[in-house]
Amino acid sequence: MSNYPIIAYNFCPQCGKPLVRAEIAKQTYSHCPDCSFVHWGEFSLGVGGIVWHEDKVLLVRRAQNPGKGNWTIPGGFVDQRERIAEAIVRELQEETGLETEPVSLIALRDRPGNKHDLYMIFLLRYIGGELQPELEEVSDIGFFTIEECRALPIAHLSLSVIEASQTQISGFIPKNGVQLIGEKSVLYQASTPINLHN
Ligand SMILES: [Zn+2]
Repeated sequence: MSNYPIIAYNFCPQCGKPLVRAEIAKQTYSHCPDCSFVHWGEFSLGVGGIVWHEDKVLLVRRAQNPGKGNWTIPGGFVDQRERIAEAIVRELQEETGLETEPVSLIALRDRPGNKHDLYMIFLLRYIGGELQPELEEVSDIGFFTIEECRALPIAHLSLSVIEASQTQISGFIPKNGVQLIGEKSVLYQASTPINLHN
């Protein structure tokens, strides 16, 4: 485990009582002596989407920092109340105007730090719509061949997952019909078996 400090809050955000420090599983956390609140840390969930259409892939040019002027796959942050697949479809629609349908989850970028930042990359099926950049976030937009992508100022992560998605792609597929707790629960399951005994 890396040693990033967890922000120490002084007061309970649920009931307002002063928080105390306690050791839980050899790590120190702030918790409330009066209610169940424990400050486990800061986390953020992001999603990105790869959309191929007629052998070209969808990219957006960032209008804001970080990475202003760079091309990336479209995406954004997951709302606490939505499924990750709902988030990427919504973000794609908002940023690009396109209608898409999630196929599978093909990559994760895990980055612990002052905030633990998890970024999940979906492969999506192009359905339709008109390219319409959301100008606050996106200064330009388009579909590009892989050769054109390589010639652009493009985020390394975007190019890496685009290249990986050109060949066979399986990834994690949302599985229907599994009994899970919580109406929003979805199980993503590997679509091909992995042999650990060869
Ligand atoms: Zn409390």
